[in-house]
Amino acid sequence: MFKMAKKSRVQTPAWILEGYDSREEYEKAKGKISNKKSGKTFKIRRCPDCNSDEVRVVVGEESKGLWECSKCNWRGKNIKEEELNEEEFLRYLDKKEGN
Ligand SMILES: [Zn+2]
Repeated sequence: MFKMAKKSRVQTPAWILEGYDSREEYEKAKGKISNKKSGKTFKIRRCPDCNSDEVRVVVGEESKGLWECSKCNWRGKNIKEEELNEEEFLRYLDKKEGN
């Protein structure tokens, strides 16, 4: 019979047992963390009038930054810009395709 000291209740973390250098490495290998959150953002532009994303730069007016909306025919410069993170952007694309 051998009795372990009380502190043996503290479990050795799995990443040590499996020979990884760090917990992060272990979790990465196990797919627990997805390469950290990238700070990636996506800019989309919307019509300030109807909120449609069917806007484009008016051909020939690029230098002036003139935009037009193909939904409501709005024209102007004060285009609405929205910044989405990756997740929001994917959701946005999903919605777009569902239309
Ligand atoms: Zn519009």
